[in-house]
Amino acid sequence: MPLRQSLRIGRYLIGQKLRRREKYPLLLELEPLFACNLKCAGCGKIQQTPDILKRRMPVAQALAAVEECGAPMVSIAGGEPLMHPEIETMVDELVRRKKFVFLCTNALLLPKKIDKFRPSPYLAFTVHIDGLRDRHDASVCKQGVFDAAVAAVREAQRRGFRVTTNTTFFNTDTPQTVIEVLDYLNDDLRVDEMMLSPAYAYEKAPDQEHFLGVAETRELFRKAFAGGRRRRWRLNHSPLFLDFLEGKVDFPCTAWAIPSYSLLGWQRPCYLMADGYAASYRELVETTDWQRYGRGRDPRCANCMAHCGYEPTAVMATMSSLRQSLRALRSA
Ligand code: SF4
Ligand code: SF4
Repeated sequence: MPLRQSLRIGRYLIGQKLRRREKYPLLLELEPLFACNLKCAGCGKIQQTPDILKRRMPVAQALAAVEECGAPMVSIAGGEPLMHPEIETMVDELVRRKKFVFLCTNALLLPKKIDKFRPSPYLAFTVHIDGLRDRHDASVCKQGVFDAAVAAVREAQRRGFRVTTNTTFFNTDTPQTVIEVLDYLNDDLRVDEMMLSPAYAYEKAPDQEHFLGVAETRELFRKAFAGGRRRRWRLNHSPLFLDFLEGKVDFPCTAWAIPSYSLLGWQRPCYLMADGYAASYRELVETTDWQRYGRGRDPRCANCMAHCGYEPTAVMATMSSLRQSLRALRSA
């Protein structure tokens, strides 16, 4: 995380502590549409009914949700956000409010839409890249997508945009495939930061076979991170979350800190599972039985090591320890 962002998030967390708030949002997962121009086998978002797939969230509704919850960071996902006809207005308005925006995209529409955006320290395109050419194209079920995404990343970088990536790992990955893709993104493509996502077995995803269990996830990352690589890679995660992925620490889930707001409302309890929807963030926090969720509590959470459940716990643990705070600042 750039220093400006780390300091701002640090200030926000201290403010929450001083106000003695127990549950507050760190990052909002905003899904202003569910439609996409790809059909990845591991996706659990594009199986909505045709009438929902046609809908687009009005900008005012998205901004009202961001303001009501107050999160300092907003990740705009979907679906493919670049298919939203007013995406640039939504982004401009969020940047104007000094929200750190991650615009998650498969990048296919980026060349056509990039003129509509302006570089800003508050905006990053977060491009979905699951592996090198063959792996990524297999993951998104379409040939040529890796090359298109890489070309779009290079053009965005040439124009001065911050570009980060999000890579989802499955049980078909090995420490070597993790190393290959992260070395490529870090050293060759030179993206600003990289996010890692152990794949979650969405109920609706067509592929139900290739998700990592907890022990597999830990072994995969322990081996991939060895030899000083973890320190060398520009990973967009707190050191404690990376320790968590490696199995060096364990945490409870704090999904209320990365809430998900979509066309259907505030999703309970997180963007991976849908046990109904609340009308506001406040209602979500106050009416969800959070004790029911997390590994060991709900069988659907058994293999989850996703950042939406565990990165906030790691960030809060960082803030409550001087040693961990210094460690996080050193890696900023
Ligand atoms: S690009 Fe993202 S939203 Fe689109 S199908 Fe693939 S995983 Fe789903
Ligand atoms: S462990 Fe937390 S983040 Fe993961 S699926 Fe369960 S509630 Fe969601």
